[in-house]
Amino acid sequence: QSVKLIAGNWKMNGLCASLTEAEALRAELEKGPATCRVVLCPPATLIDRMGVALRGSSVEVGGQDCRAERCGAYTGDISADMLKDAGAAWVIVGHSERRQGYGETDAVVAAKATAALEAGLAPIVCVGETLAEREAGRAVEVVRGQVLNSLPLAAGGREFAVAYEPVWAIGTGLTPTLEQIEEVHRAVRAAMIERLGLAAATAPILYGGSVKPDNARDILAVPEVGGALVGGASLKAADFLTIVRAA
Ligand code: 13P
Repeated sequence: QSVKLIAGNWKMNGLCASLTEAEALRAELEKGPATCRVVLCPPATLIDRMGVALRGSSVEVGGQDCRAERCGAYTGDISADMLKDAGAAWVIVGHSERRQGYGETDAVVAAKATAALEAGLAPIVCVGETLAEREAGRAVEVVRGQVLNSLPLAAGGREFAVAYEPVWAIGTGLTPTLEQIEEVHRAVRAAMIERLGLAAATAPILYGGSVKPDNARDILAVPEVGGALVGGASLKAADFLTIVRAA
C-alpha cells in the first residue's frame, strides 16, 4: 500500500485570516510529521502567501482550476503556468462545481489536465456521478466514461491523481457505503489502466464528498482508496489534521 494523499480544497473560502489555519497545520505537523502526503488548495489569491506560510513544511500547495491555454485574452481565468509560478505543485481539474457550473466537458477537463502536466503541475482529475445517475444504477458506467475521456494520455508515467467525488455527497453529509466506494474505485482503477496502461497502476485514487474527522479512518481503509479530497473539513486545521492522522 503506497503513501496516501490527503488534499484539502478550500473552494471560495479563505480570507487572509484563514492562513492561520495553514500555519496551525504546519505547527502540528512539525510536532508529529504526517505519514501521508498533504496538499492544500486555497483560492488562487492565497497560493503565494500560503506557500510562504508553509515553507519548510512537507505540505504542498495546489490550485483549484486552470485554463487549458497558456496565456491570452481570457478575462478572469488563470493558467497552469501562473499557478506554478505562484508556488503550486498540484491543481484540481474537472471538479463537479466546474463541470456543472461552467459546462466543462470531459474534453475540456482533459485539456486542462494536459496543460497542468505541461506546466509541471500534478493534476487531480475529478469524476463522479449525480444522484439521478446513481439511482438509475449508472454510477460505475458514468464514472468509467469520465475517467476514459478526462484523463489525458500525457498523464502516463507522470504524477497525477484521480478523485472520485459523487456529486450528491459533496457538502451534504451523505456518503456512499464503503462497499459502493470500493466498487467505484475498482472501476476507476480499471479505467485508468485501460486508458494509460500499467503506468496508471499506482497513481492514487482519492475519495471526496463529506469526508469528516469521524468517517475518514473507515473510508481511507477501503481497498483502492489512496487518499481523500476534503472540502469543508479542510478549512479548520484541527479537523483536517484529524483526517491527515487517519491516513
Ligand atoms: P465536502 O468535503 O465539503 O463535501 O467537499 C468535497 C469536495 O468537493 C472536495 O473537492
